[in-house]
Order: sequence, then structure tokens, then C-alpha cells
Amino acid sequence: MDFEIFTLLPEVFGPYLQSSILLRAQQSRLISVHLHNIRDFTHDRHHTTDDVPYGGGGGMVMKPEPVFEAVESVLNFSGPAAAPCPIILLTPQGRVFSQTIARELSRHRRIAVICGRYEGVDERIRTHLATDEISMGDFVLTGGELPALVLMDAVTRLLPGALGHPNGAQSDSHSAGLLEHPHFTRPPEFRGQRVPEVLLSGDHARIARWRHEQSLLRTAQRRPDMLRGASLSDEDAAFLAGQRPTKPA
Ligand code: SAM
Repeated sequence: MDFEIFTLLPEVFGPYLQSSILLRAQQSRLISVHLHNIRDFTHDRHHTTDDVPYGGGGGMVMKPEPVFEAVESVLNFSGPAAAPCPIILLTPQGRVFSQTIARELSRHRRIAVICGRYEGVDERIRTHLATDEISMGDFVLTGGELPALVLMDAVTRLLPGALGHPNGAQSDSHSAGLLEHPHFTRPPEFRGQRVPEVLLSGDHARIARWRHEQSLLRTAQRRPDMLRGASLSDEDAAFLAGQRPTKPA
């Protein structure tokens, strides 16, 4: 998977891309991250990438020319030709990112991502260059660089072989429409709190059942909205029906 990232601040990506799963995924050639500085696609003496908004008001707006030139030359297409891969504009006005969208994106061989700054980008970038708009949530950040890292991280985890263990991200929260079960590690007792006995039993079938039930319970307590869309077995439904309402743990 190739990530083509268009940004005014390529220098902020380094430490995160050089750590942990994203680093290993690059080393094993599962992903390549290409950072393109939009400023390199300006032609004036001052390398101008922003300008005042038409109609007045505060702040600056990212100019269309360098962004179009950067994306079109890197992806090698122009004008009305079909974009060769998704061109995602990061914006708080886009569809809200989720595990489902991450899975959808993980099926592409290449993804381009445009990071905005200032008051955002000239509207023509949205209407005539981007093919998709993604938001990280209902809040406003200073730029699209953190959202781009979030997107790359979530997508990379879903690529076969990206995680160190065979089942990869399958049991992660949101992967199967449920929140994940709680985790415990050594010691078996900490400050009077014992690890649930079942996890020490070595009985894999019991452990799997306990984890699935915890997953159902957590989702019911914390995110009942998710259960409405989940396909529950009769056994799951009976288990949940048998639980008394409790406060979220
Ligand atoms: N004025 C814009 C608005 O109200 O919609 C917000 C601009 S924001 C300060 C600057 C840039 O940060 C945006 O162009 C976008 O690329 C990025 N950004 C901010 N919040 C974001 C979010 N929730 N999701 C994705 N990108 C975001």
C-alpha cells in the first residue's frame, strides 16, 4: 500500500512513522509513505501556499494551484481524467472515520491524502480534486497531519502481516461490531485485585466464551447503539437478556 501524503509540514510525521507497527510495515515493504511538501509546487519567489479569503474574514485559505499541481504531478493525471486512486481531503466536514472506512481503504493499493491548514483549503480542491472527504470526529484540529497519521495507522493495522500475531486486528474493538473484552497480564493479583479465575484456568473454550460474553457486556453497557446494528446469535441475545443493567465499569 502506498500512502501519498500532501502536506505543508512533512517534518511532523517523522517520529511516529519511525516507530512500532508503522516502522515495521515500512521495513517489510507492506506500506510505503511518500511525503510531498505542497510548498515545493509553488512558483513564486515567496513559495506562497495560502491567501486571504474572498469576501473577507479572518485567517488564510490554502491556494488551489500548488495543491492541484502537487497531487496531479505525483499521481500523474490531470484535469477531468479519472483519479488513479482515492484522493482524500481531510476535513472536519467529511464522513466520520471508522473501522469500516479503514477496512474499505485497506483494499486499495494506493491512497492520496491532502492535509489542510489555516482556515482550510480553497473549495475547488474539494469539488474538483478530492474524491473523498474524511473527518476524524466532531472537533477541529489545527491541521490534517494528525488525522493523516491516524488514518495510516488504522489502515496499516488491517493489512495482512502488519501485526505480530496471526489473528491480527480481528478481535479489536469495532472490527466485529463489538467492543473488545478486557485484558489482563501478570501479576495475577495487584493491589488486592485478582485476575478473573477463568483466564488462569488454561481452558481455552471457557476463556473464549468468557471473552465473548465480556465483549457483549461491554458493548451493551458502553455502546448500546452498536448492538442495534450487530448480528447477534440467539445465544448472545439470551445472554444479554439474562444480564441485569449495571453501571459501566
Ligand atoms: N475552518 C475549517 C472548518 O471549520 O471546517 C477547519 C479548518 S482546520 C483549522 C485546518 C485543517 O485541519 C483542515 O483543513 C483539515 O485538513 C484539518 N482538520 C481539522 N480538524 C479535522 C478533523 N476533525 N478531521 C480531519 N481533518 C481535520
